[in-house]
Amino acid sequence: MIAAVDKNTCIGCGTCPAVCPEVFEMDDDGLAVARTNPVPSDVEESAQEAAEECPVDAIHVN
Ligand code: SF4
Repeated sequence: MIAAVDKNTCIGCGTCPAVCPEVFEMDDDGLAVARTNPVPSDVEESAQEAAEECPVDAIHVN
């Protein structure tokens, strides 16, 4: 699984690193970034959950 954050859409709410800190973190610009790719298999579920909880659908996982 690959996770990607669309920074043009992210509003910096902080939800994704709260849900899945193994993959997502807040970058210096205040927007989220996926720092662990490919996503380790044991956190694929929480990465998917983070994508679903993003309020602006800025996270894409596949
Ligand atoms: S949940 Fe969505 S809007 Fe919030 S920080 Fe993550 S990518 Fe950005």
